[in-house]
Amino acid sequence: MAVPLIQAYRVGRYIAGKKLRGVKRYPLVLMLEPLFQCNLACAGCGKIDYPKEILQKRVSLEDALRAVDECDAPMVSIPGGEPLIHKEMPQIVAGIVARKKFVYLCTNAILLAKHIDEYTPSPYLTFSIHLDGGRERHDESVCQEGVFDKAVAAIRLARGKGFRVTINCTLFSGEDPDHVAAFFDEAMTLGIEGITVSPGYSYHHAPRQDVFLGRSASKRLFREIFKRGRKKGSSRPRWTFNHSALFLDFLAGNQAYECTPWSNPTYNVFGWQRPCYLLTDEGYAPSFKSLMEDTAWENYGVGRNPACDNCMAHCGFEGTAVDDTFSHPIKALTSALRGPRLTGPMAADPPILYGDRPSRTVATVAVTDIKRANREPDAPSRL
Ligand code: SF4
Ligand code: SF4
Repeated sequence: MAVPLIQAYRVGRYIAGKKLRGVKRYPLVLMLEPLFQCNLACAGCGKIDYPKEILQKRVSLEDALRAVDECDAPMVSIPGGEPLIHKEMPQIVAGIVARKKFVYLCTNAILLAKHIDEYTPSPYLTFSIHLDGGRERHDESVCQEGVFDKAVAAIRLARGKGFRVTINCTLFSGEDPDHVAAFFDEAMTLGIEGITVSPGYSYHHAPRQDVFLGRSASKRLFREIFKRGRKKGSSRPRWTFNHSALFLDFLAGNQAYECTPWSNPTYNVFGWQRPCYLLTDEGYAPSFKSLMEDTAWENYGVGRNPACDNCMAHCGFEGTAVDDTFSHPIKALTSALRGPRLTGPMAADPPILYGDRPSRTVATVAVTDIKRANREPDAPSRL
């Protein structure tokens, strides 16, 4: 199974339109964070470290759909927090589907059996189930036993009811490529459409800081994993990924990409988050237009901001890879046919330019106005 043709066609037509009109920055996936509250507290999560009054806030149905219309990206990813806790989530999803936009509802799946009948199967709706590894690895990652089994049961339930299902896998330090490969094999037997995979971004606000991979370690790990996943007699992976071929090649260290954070703009209970889904301390824009036009983009990216040093996340770089696919179709086709290159020198990382970093800042809602739970402003992370 792969992304349905209707999605490939609509998204391809959207990007081609932007490229033809010479639009330099365009949104590809709206990251709609409707709440930060979650029923888990994962070691690598940078989203749940807020005081109770903020965790209880919700993006309303009206605001969610206004953000979808304002941004007008062809795909909407709904992470969190845990979106299934949000009482208006079925209406939010239905409203997005009615606009013929492709929704990825990201969930840890604990509440999926309880709520699944509030949703209707559609080519426009995919449940993206959080699954970081096999039983032991996933339960360790989410810091709770039994969650893997619930997630797998939820995947089977959703597939049985005719929903599109992907898994969303984040890799952390200490991963064993053999175990990851065995987990990908197991995941594909569940009938999922594909695997979304990224190295975990080293959130400053995550409960644990020792779990994150650096960029070099990430690239070496992905080469090892992809080596184990080759089809017999071919260099292509036998797993289906929910990514472009060039993003996989980037993960394997072969593309010197800069991120395009505007490709995945983020809207949450504070408004439009500058500059991206991952950096949560840079302030908020009053509108999508302001986010796109007034953000000091030159202050962000690998080599331009220390907070970006280890980032290889798909919300920053998949948009770059997709844009590159349209700019260099032969390279993209070659990569798709051959699979990621797994030997030889890696592409150089961008040079460090921190010293030249411009001082322009345009945050509208200062991050100092947003209280974080569990620690004073400059105290170290928990654990
Ligand atoms: S990573 Fe996802 S499931 Fe885990 S605590 Fe954060 S929001 Fe919840
Ligand atoms: S590299 Fe880009 S996507 Fe990653 S944290 Fe920095 S600005 Fe965000």
